[in-house]
Amino acid sequence: MSNRIRNDFGWTLCLTLLTASGATMTAIAANIGGGGANPAGEARPVPAATVQRIARLLTQTPLIDGHNDLAETLREKFGNKLWTVDMNGTPGSPVTSLQTDIARLRAGHVGGQFWSVWIPVSVTGSDAIRMTLEQIDTVRGLVDRYPQTFALASTAADIERIHKSGKIASMIGIEGGHQIGESIAALRQFYALGARYMTLTHSSNNALADSATDNPLHKGLTSFGRAVLSEMNRLGMLVDIAHVSPEVMRQAITQSKAPVIFSHSSARAVTEHPRNVPDDVLKMLVEHDGVVMVNFYPGYVSNAYNRWIADHAAETARTNAPPFGGLYIGQPERAAAALADWEKEHPKPRVTVQAVADHIDYIVKLIGIQHVGIGSDFDGIEAVPEGLSSVADYPNLFAELIARGWTDSMLSKLAGGNLLRVLRKAEAVAASMKSVALSNPAIADFADGGVVMR
Ligand SMILES: [Zn+2]
Repeated sequence: MSNRIRNDFGWTLCLTLLTASGATMTAIAANIGGGGANPAGEARPVPAATVQRIARLLTQTPLIDGHNDLAETLREKFGNKLWTVDMNGTPGSPVTSLQTDIARLRAGHVGGQFWSVWIPVSVTGSDAIRMTLEQIDTVRGLVDRYPQTFALASTAADIERIHKSGKIASMIGIEGGHQIGESIAALRQFYALGARYMTLTHSSNNALADSATDNPLHKGLTSFGRAVLSEMNRLGMLVDIAHVSPEVMRQAITQSKAPVIFSHSSARAVTEHPRNVPDDVLKMLVEHDGVVMVNFYPGYVSNAYNRWIADHAAETARTNAPPFGGLYIGQPERAAAALADWEKEHPKPRVTVQAVADHIDYIVKLIGIQHVGIGSDFDGIEAVPEGLSSVADYPNLFAELIARGWTDSMLSKLAGGNLLRVLRKAEAVAASMKSVALSNPAIADFADGGVVMR
């Protein structure tokens, strides 16, 4: 989950038509080689040969998405009835209002998915462990309910084997160090249940590290956070440094024995958002390996959109900020009318698939093709780019990159090749650490209190 604004699902424009035969597809018009300037933005047909090329490529190489929040969305929308929800994507069924279902995963040629088991940062301690277990149960239950579609993957070899069998390899990603309830034993058991990455923080600082979207507290990793990171290396769990502060990014890359990932982050030089990755950190991925899996959220891939969201929030507060603030406090209809006027004068900026491709292109030009991947954040974002409205739409992104001259070899690395390489390295590091004794340090065991930077 990239932010806490929940999906309204009202602003999605489906511009993809992908027939069962894959014969026709439309995407936002690409300005070939131009990298995004397309004021008209009309859809134009993608040649049938390109559609077939993408389908063939993604049969050979799994498309592995780094981050999907379906589990959290199912919990939020359906509560304890989530097990009754038909996930097939049958027309008219409730799941079709989400960004993910089985029919669309198939249309999008998804071969592997890290399913996020996010819980709010306000949930801590034992409650966090219980709620994380419930979210893991949701993912494992999804796999169990649809064995013809999904299979749980524990290793890179599993992902490749499952993809070859025609199923979607399913991995679990924990999205915040708060979810282990300050217990390294809990971290180990989450690994045993299938968790293959953990994001060190979510939107707030925690006992492990500082978040990118909080005021700096520890100035990096805490000593407890460093112990957690070492245990993740020992286990073979990928260290995910999406959401963390730049200082934590640098420290984690330097400390980790295995390559790190950004499961869903974009490039800060292209879009100035604190959730994105600065150039100096991207460059560290060359020496230390690692992969940045690019997020689709319009606020992370478009400066204009990011600015609009901030302005909109400010305008909302200016008109109505309970309990006492706002020009029209206590007059909700007048406040809503004022906001509607503002929206008329300040239309939401368009963001298209080209903006996401621009981030990918930028990263490749800066640090090479070896360090980029895809981390859509679907079902964790309340808005989507035109042309990337659901998991059915990955082919539009590939078509855009093909229009920019990308080769199959490049597309294959982006799709999943880079992530598989990094996961294999993490597995090798874990194998080399088998002799490291188990330990279970609690925060209180650290002489510095565990939460002071070293
Ligand atoms: Zn997130």
